[in-house]
Amino acid sequence: MKVADGVYVLPIPRGSREADGFLNLTLVLDDKNGNTLVDTGLPGQEEGISAALAEAGIGVRDLERIVFTHQDLDHVGSGAALVRQSGAKVLAHAVEAPYIDGGLRPLKPTPEMLEQRPQMSEMMRRLEPVGVDELLEDGELLDLAGGTRIIFTPGHTPGHVSLYLEGPRVLVAGDALTAEEGHLNGPNPPVTLDMDEAARSVGRLAELEVETIVCYHGGVVNENANGQLRRLAGESSGNPEG
Ligand SMILES: [Zn+2]
Repeated sequence: MKVADGVYVLPIPRGSREADGFLNLTLVLDDKNGNTLVDTGLPGQEEGISAALAEAGIGVRDLERIVFTHQDLDHVGSGAALVRQSGAKVLAHAVEAPYIDGGLRPLKPTPEMLEQRPQMSEMMRRLEPVGVDELLEDGELLDLAGGTRIIFTPGHTPGHVSLYLEGPRVLVAGDALTAEEGHLNGPNPPVTLDMDEAARSVGRLAELEVETIVCYHGGVVNENANGQLRRLAGESSGNPEG
């Protein structure tokens, strides 16, 4: 799905059943600076991702860089395979990089999460670490799609980043926000490590002027995206009356 000039959302089925939903990867095409994929699905999804890239008109080999919003299994899963096929450079926040490159064990799934979803252990066994080539910093402007700002949005994980494409005003929120059929929601509490921090990150995102928000879980929000984001930030900043 094209959300702006050169910006595509690639919904990848999460599992074999429709009820499993989709993971929404973002692809940014840039003739001058190379093509960028944001997040890479679960382990073993490289073929599905390759097919989705083909629909957007490129092959895996045409990927110049991969940006990881964070360390979670369903975001870095097929990263190693895609890097092998493409030679793409990998970018992630400095706080998050060691959990992605195998220096530290991923913080999730936690034992409680594994108890809820035992099928995740099998996926974790298939997860390969991915080397990180460039460390991202808050506020950094990538020369990509006319200017892509890195926004540090910790909470869901300690080094989570979101991307803001300044030209088309597209916010790629990763898991800092979620959505359901066009309705914007906050981060998902059971899988968010620090909800207070995550709420502050929502507040930071609400300072942006956005036209479109891409949530990895829930997809595209483009109706009154600004209004929805500000409402959410107001709710999550806490109401003094309790
Ligand atoms: Zn996540």
